[in-house]
Amino acid sequence: MNMDKVILIKYGELSTKKGNRNFFINTLYKNIEKKLENYHVTLKKDRSHMYIEFLNEEFYKIKGIIDKIFGIHKYILANIVENDLEKIKENVLSSILENHPTTFKIETKRSNKEFPITSCEMNNLLGGYVLKNVEDIKVDVHNPEMLVKVEIREKNTYVYSHEYMGSGGYPVGTQGMGLLMLSGGIDSPVAGYMAMKRGIKLECVYFEAIPHTSLEARNKVIELTRILSNYTNSINLHIVNFTKIQEEIYRNCRSDYCITIMRRMMYRIMDKISKKYKGYVIINGESIGQVASQTLTSMSVINSVTNVPVIRPVACLDKLEIISIARKIGTYETSILPYEDCCTVFVPKHPVINPKLEVAIKEEEKFDYESLIDLAIENIDTLKIDSKEEKFSDLL
Ligand code: ATP
Ligand code: MG
Repeated sequence: MNMDKVILIKYGELSTKKGNRNFFINTLYKNIEKKLENYHVTLKKDRSHMYIEFLNEEFYKIKGIIDKIFGIHKYILANIVENDLEKIKENVLSSILENHPTTFKIETKRSNKEFPITSCEMNNLLGGYVLKNVEDIKVDVHNPEMLVKVEIREKNTYVYSHEYMGSGGYPVGTQGMGLLMLSGGIDSPVAGYMAMKRGIKLECVYFEAIPHTSLEARNKVIELTRILSNYTNSINLHIVNFTKIQEEIYRNCRSDYCITIMRRMMYRIMDKISKKYKGYVIINGESIGQVASQTLTSMSVINSVTNVPVIRPVACLDKLEIISIARKIGTYETSILPYEDCCTVFVPKHPVINPKLEVAIKEEEKFDYESLIDLAIENIDTLKIDSKEEKFSDLL
């Protein structure tokens, strides 16, 4: 067992949140603790940093997890050294020898004022030691090939040279909960990822219309939820049986208004379950102009059934931009699997592009949707999806 290195997480953007600082840091701490619970790590925090001590052989696995935790902007892999000049010298020298740069610079920060040598003197001592022991190397204070930072702290000194970029954003959970309308498509998982990045804890809602949609379509949504849960702890997926509502719409309403009305029904259900599950916002993957139901007039007619704020993270992105995020976050390959969605099954030939609110309301009066909505909500099936589950098929 070798624990001579530590991961240092700097709070970065979090530290600007004055009033909420502790809440943000504690949430990040709990999120990291939960994600790393199956690894041999020790987690500590102080006012400026979080420290993860780990087993060297688990570093790459741990790194893979840390890279997906929101609220981490930068992190550092540092050597832990005793507060002892000779040991620090040796450590700095071996870091330089490992990387063999042609130019270098030492930057010492001494927050432990009991350590007898000042930062400036340390820079000279360490720099001199490197110059004496390494051939063909120079100091470059402006643009060094390798910058070695030495932080002398209370218990230990940290020596490091490389900073990794984290995912940024806010720790998931710091902004309360939102309900993501998750279909099997490309857009809504990306929308969910972007909302989580802003610190929103997600629960997902999937509308299915079995037997018009298949179990494979459901599996796909479960798998997408599982991929999203890599970026948080676990996610509840609420499955709404939408069959009866959809059939009634198609039996009773004008065909060009069916999609508008179907989406108004989805939003009505979202409105009610937001209140039931205490979600502050509805999140979806609508993108302006992408299809008939996503023109501004459509959005306004559809949105008018709810007062819950609707967040549309991908509203202003091009499809190619959305696809590139989907690839980066690992949802794309699953999203393009060819199973029918309840929207695609019933698509009319000519859906209205600029629907009128009065017409939608008049068409809806043709059947008793209130009781169907209540029934659908009563019968919601909820699955808790965890990234640690091996395969989604095990859940069925
Ligand atoms: P996506 O690629 O996310 O499926 P889309 O381009 O196919 O989106 P629509 O089918 O018009 O667009 O849906 C717009 C948004 O409405 C989706 O991004 C999703 O948030 C939500 N939505 C659509 N169908 C469903 C469904 N069956 N269950 C849950 N949400 C849905
Ligand atoms: Mg879709």
